[in-house]
Amino acid sequence: MENIFFQPVKKYLNISEAASKALLRLKIETLRDLLFYRPVAHQHIAQEPNLEQVEAGQLIQTTVTLEDVLRPTSRKAPLKLYATNSTGAITLVFFNKIHPFLYNKLKVGQKYTICGKIEIFDRNLQISHPEFIFNKKFTNQIIPIYPLTYGITNKQLYGYVIDALKIVENTISNINNLGSSSKEYKDYLVSLLDELKKLHLIDFVGTDPRINQSYASSHLAKKELLANQLSLTALKRQQKTNAGRVFTANKQLQVQVLSRLQFELTDGQQSAISEIEQDQISSSQMVRMLQGDVGSGKTLVALLTMLNVVSSGAQASLMAPTDLLSIQHYQFFSYALENTNVKVGLLTGKMTAQQHRKIKKQLQEGEIDIIIGTHALFQKDVEFKNLGYVIIDEQHRFGVEQRLELVKKSSYPDLLVMTATPIPRSLTLTMFGDMNVSKITSKPKNRLPIITSVIPTTKKHSLVMSFEKRINLGEKIYWVCPLIDQSDKLAEDEIVNFTENNNFSPATVQSTFDELSKLFPGKVAALHGKMKSQEKDQIMQEFKEGSISVLVATTVIEVGIDVPDSNFIVIENAEKFGLAQLHQLRGRVGRGAKQSYCILIYNPQRTSQVAAERLKIMRQSNDGFYIAEEDLKLRGGGEILGLRQSGEPVFYFANLSTHLPDLLEANKMAGSMSVTDKFVEFQIKLFARDKAELIKSG
Ligand code: ADP
Ligand code: MG
Repeated sequence: MENIFFQPVKKYLNISEAASKALLRLKIETLRDLLFYRPVAHQHIAQEPNLEQVEAGQLIQTTVTLEDVLRPTSRKAPLKLYATNSTGAITLVFFNKIHPFLYNKLKVGQKYTICGKIEIFDRNLQISHPEFIFNKKFTNQIIPIYPLTYGITNKQLYGYVIDALKIVENTISNINNLGSSSKEYKDYLVSLLDELKKLHLIDFVGTDPRINQSYASSHLAKKELLANQLSLTALKRQQKTNAGRVFTANKQLQVQVLSRLQFELTDGQQSAISEIEQDQISSSQMVRMLQGDVGSGKTLVALLTMLNVVSSGAQASLMAPTDLLSIQHYQFFSYALENTNVKVGLLTGKMTAQQHRKIKKQLQEGEIDIIIGTHALFQKDVEFKNLGYVIIDEQHRFGVEQRLELVKKSSYPDLLVMTATPIPRSLTLTMFGDMNVSKITSKPKNRLPIITSVIPTTKKHSLVMSFEKRINLGEKIYWVCPLIDQSDKLAEDEIVNFTENNNFSPATVQSTFDELSKLFPGKVAALHGKMKSQEKDQIMQEFKEGSISVLVATTVIEVGIDVPDSNFIVIENAEKFGLAQLHQLRGRVGRGAKQSYCILIYNPQRTSQVAAERLKIMRQSNDGFYIAEEDLKLRGGGEILGLRQSGEPVFYFANLSTHLPDLLEANKMAGSMSVTDKFVEFQIKLFARDKAELIKSG
């Protein structure tokens, strides 16, 4: 029965071809998607109004007597029905053919209930294509208004919602086998149905539809948060009932690698590694988050702790959100492990099928010890001989389901998620349940704080003039622009508040590239998300090697790119970026011993007070944890860091900034429920977001 929610709408509803395409554009595929599609507003339908007092544009529903059928006088003329009630007369107009089903039902002298929008034509009242209401069960004084796309009307969509609810209602009333928690399960379905009806204003009662809808949203949010916590609890239960893996620390190998890199661990790295090792040697599964500001050296912690697993005979995997980042990690690992017998592999979505096959075979046979890759790693056909450790870098870019997929690939591998974004409790709870957190608060010894200055666009020219000296000294400069080119309205990444102004063109990679390459021919390259990954890798390589001095890029460089000797970054239209993003971008420099600089260029005419405040915070502080807190204050807690970057809202109904108490409640409840039950499985599935969507957001 529960599967009714996950059935394709097409299978149950009578949907036209055009509407079916439109639904897909609205991401509505299953009955669940349809019923979770939230109306954004509502409109009143006046019931039995006095026809002498109605106005054009008003929606009315009334019962009238059909007085006459006026057939079209020419081929183009409409068919008209002349109708009256005790308060007045109204003409019902049909421009195209009237549906035979309806036509056959019409009889002069009979009463009909009709519904539609009042028009005034030749001083007479009329309704074009009124709705005839034969089944009053779902009729309503108020109709919801949905966000639409071409190919579908509001009435159509609402009709589908109504039909879908009827189908679900019938199915629910006919079920009997619901497994062990039958009573609760049934109650749940009944309340779910009730909330969905209220959400869509069906069987509407009361005077204010907003009360119904807010009741529905808050109850659905509770259900959603519970489902979220249940899915995490389910994972955790498995961890507890099944003994985790035991790995021993291999200090010797770690020391060997550190000496090859000529690195000395920072205190923060040291303590993070010991906390992770505590988990590794214990027999329960590790589920830990490693938080460390940009440039704090999380990758090294990943590498060294992976060595423990590998020398204990198991495999480890490192998942990164982009190809570029995977390749970079791969290069770093390969270099660090050159004189060891640890074998590292790379798997990204953009490799050839042949390369994929080869890597997959090596993984299956255990020839690869450490695999690095993008979400290509959790495709179904990727199998490991003995996966013992999963690390996820920049975790906020991945959805919960994706993480579960990778962890499922093996019996209870240890899990470490790494992030540069300090995450508020509400977010950690929803993403991981209760999870242990390690923090790296110190930076590698040789680091000097980045010097940040803020300049108006008018000073751009003299900035560019100062580049010549830097380029001659072999320095490497990043130049970040919000857009790729003029046609690129939204760039490929998130730009906070960008839509504020449409008539203003922010700097583009293309125009900046043109301008700078005229001045420094052969020394400038452009990098953005629309380029082929091969091209991107090539350019990154040239930048690393130094044959290119200035890299003009979009925010593709935001996540984790590491060119340690680059020490100068310019961010243009800095007023357009959010704090988290500015801080991430700035973190591309300050990674080596040289003094680093960050120049934030802003357009004074486009800089709001909040944007100015953001720039000030950037100038004052290099501390990601402090910046994150200030960010939350500036946003009034309305929006939570990291969420925006995934591009998709994480929840259908819940809003983490207002539902924290519900979340804590859900966390408690989930802890006391039996998670193996069909009922729980249903709840989890009901609120699961589409996997394909999550993958796209990576
Ligand atoms: P993030 O935490 O942002 O992922 P990375 O792991 O990319 O940071 O590290 C930033 C830079 O610092 C890299 O070039 C890395 O090799 C270097 N690094 C990491 N740890 C140390 C260390 N202990 N001493 C010197 N350099 C280090
Ligand atoms: Mg990193």
